Amino acid sequence: MKKYDCIIIGGGIAGITAAIYLKQANKDVLLIEKSAPGGILNKISTIKNYPGLPGISGPDLAYNLYSQVKSMNVEILLDTVLNIKHLKNSNKVILKDQELSCKYLILATGKEPRKLNLEHEDELVGKGISYCALCDANFYKDKEVAVIGAGESALKEALYLANICSRVTIINKYDYFKCKEDIVKEIEKKNNIQVLYHSFIKSLEKDNNYLTGITYEQDQKIKELPVSGVFVYIGSTPNIFGNLKLELDKNYIKVDNNMQTNIETIYAVGDVIKKDLYQLVNAASEGMIAATNIIKNLNKK
Ligand SMILES: Cc1cc2nc3c(=O)[nH]c(=O)nc-3n(C[C@H](O)[C@H](O)[C@H](O)COP(=O)(O)OP(=O)(O)OC[C@H]3O[C@@H](n4cnc5c(N)ncnc54)[C@H](O)[C@@H]3O)c2cc1C
Repeated sequence: MKKYDCIIIGGGIAGITAAIYLKQANKDVLLIEKSAPGGILNKISTIKNYPGLPGISGPDLAYNLYSQVKSMNVEILLDTVLNIKHLKNSNKVILKDQELSCKYLILATGKEPRKLNLEHEDELVGKGISYCALCDANFYKDKEVAVIGAGESALKEALYLANICSRVTIINKYDYFKCKEDIVKEIEKKNNIQVLYHSFIKSLEKDNNYLTGITYEQDQKIKELPVSGVFVYIGSTPNIFGNLKLELDKNYIKVDNNMQTNIETIYAVGDVIKKDLYQLVNAASEGMIAATNIIKNLNKK
């Protein structure tokens, strides 16, 4: 069985950056991605704070990253990793039809949007419930929609939806937003966005298997809001799988300054690790840090 110097699981910006550095150092690297290279970027409308690329769309940045690794001839496998076995001198990566072996492993698996956990939520996905404005906004063109959330993602995507939908109502359980003031100001300027503070979604209403509205509670009163779509931005949970004995902190992987986990040959980067800020620049930087440390270790031996 071929033994790679390093296998990277997850082809978002963190994993792709690690792949670029490892390949540049001439290491034998494999990048495994279960969905679309670029990861969560494929679901982000606009990015205003990535240095050098102001206002780039998420899918365009994803495409640039993918083109870069492709042009460097990084080996990419489109498959889902099901499990990982850590052995004394190697790590085994288990896929549906094969097992791969590597000296070092980088976990760059990101996180998944958290669900509302309400009745009918799963059956209404694609029929009124969405976790991706960029993917689904056009299904709700000129219709009224709600955005659930109070953070930067909820607000940014509400702004995007306001250009396509007739009216956007933000259901915010707090009496403030958890994000930078400039985005809140943009929200206030949009006359087809209304914000309902102190509001909690209670249930999803449906007719003929399509969402027709929501019931929410505001200041102890139960109210109804007819909408065709609900976009959910209430946080995320990290993608951690398999039975590795990784040290976690609030469900995220704990790493040291070199991005090394508690297992010496396993590193973790990007949205899957415990940190204060979940942004593109630090995800990319963590990919670089993990890769350069692995390169140093490989060169010692
Ligand atoms: C709506 C929204 C807007 C945002 N806007 C901004 C912004 O404007 N500026 C900014 O700096 N940041 C922004 N962010 C945050 C930023 O996008 C993330 O911090 C960053 O993209 C995370 O990159 P990542 O590589 O860690 O994870 P991801 O991009 O999530 O990549 C992880 C990859 O791992 C793959 N994967 C998972 N499990 C497996 C498996 N078992 N096998 C194989 N592959 C697997 C997934 O398919 C995925 O492609 C935003 C986030 C969201 C949700």
